[in-house]
Amino acid sequence: MLHVNENYAKIKPTYLFAEIAHRVSAHLEANPGAKVIRLGIGDVTEPLCPAVIEAMHKAVDDEAGRAAFHGYGPEQGYAFLRDKIAKFDFQDRGIGIESDEILVSDGAKCDCGNIQELFAQDVKVAVGDPVYPVYVDTNTMAGRGDIALLPCTAANGFVPMPSDLPRGVQPDIVYLCYPNNPTGAVATRAQLQSWVDWANANKALILFDAAYEAFIRTPGIPHSIYECDGARSCAIEFRSYSKTAGFTGVRCGYTVVPKGLCAYAADGTSVELRPMWTRRQTTKFNGASYITQRGAEAIYTPEGQAQTKATIDFYLGNAKLMRKALEELGYTVAGGEDSPYLWVDVKGDSWEFFDRLLKRANIVTTPGAGFGKAGEGFIRISAFNSRENVIEAIERLKGVL
Ligand code: PLP
Repeated sequence: MLHVNENYAKIKPTYLFAEIAHRVSAHLEANPGAKVIRLGIGDVTEPLCPAVIEAMHKAVDDEAGRAAFHGYGPEQGYAFLRDKIAKFDFQDRGIGIESDEILVSDGAKCDCGNIQELFAQDVKVAVGDPVYPVYVDTNTMAGRGDIALLPCTAANGFVPMPSDLPRGVQPDIVYLCYPNNPTGAVATRAQLQSWVDWANANKALILFDAAYEAFIRTPGIPHSIYECDGARSCAIEFRSYSKTAGFTGVRCGYTVVPKGLCAYAADGTSVELRPMWTRRQTTKFNGASYITQRGAEAIYTPEGQAQTKATIDFYLGNAKLMRKALEELGYTVAGGEDSPYLWVDVKGDSWEFFDRLLKRANIVTTPGAGFGKAGEGFIRISAFNSRENVIEAIERLKGVL
């Protein structure tokens, strides 16, 4: 008889966005023609920048003729892109990461989800609460049920520290995400250094999700975990072009696995992770497309840098306007400064607040409870929208709150 992986039954249903969609369509049915403004989504709204579009058009032309045609490329990514990543994202910032420590992929979600395949089933995992659900669900699918939660609360500035680990809990793997989805919090160098020191002292691993790195504007906030001393021996980092350069539909990101980073076999022998991840990717993934990688490469040209920065500045401008308006209305707001997400303390039930904004202001947000127990009492507002919609949404918020 064919048996299923019963761990799938343990994953929470994708209740959050389905439930939001359900409530929005019920609202639209009851109020036909209502102009709903969606501040709930985590998808970008601005198009690709001209430098990327030009590079991708050129790459399509390459694929159109024999002279520069590219079929299967290297599974780890083309050298032209890996070299630029190493230089611009790391070496020019004083971080010693080399291009052969970078593996290009079709986005951070796959890599964040797939990385756990490298580890034994009985490793102990810890995540923040609230959390980007991929870390939890992929470990649950793999049969790791007992995931420790690190509450991210106003009391710890939404940045839990090793001292927040529940008593007696000693994880082997900790997922950290800064700037954070959903809270918008950023971690200081000292905070990240504490995690790195903790991981090195405990032979543990940090899985650092830096998908929103490009939103950091506050000087001194680390853009990479490798800005911390000793991180090469205890951390893997995930990056994404989705929010950096509007690649949510194009699909490209990368993962950094430093040389010498090890986990351990049952007999205590150390095993290097970079060859394992390379083997995993070369076996199960055939590379991001040539056209996509040429587009990603263009992000690192002077024009690409200026254009992608301008788009992120625009989203940050949206976030600033909404944060100011909500604070003037008396709400305590976290995030929105080095992040596209605002985490608003609604002083009550997050689904009730969601309904109130939907019904009275035609505004869609994301209830914090959907990201975990500690998200109750908050809503996430996203800055990915047109300025016109943001200004209109602020006027409506002023009307109902
Ligand atoms: N990590 C976090 C924290 C995210 O919020 C997202 C996307 O929303 C991702 C990773 C996935 O990024 P990608 O589009 O590169 O798969």
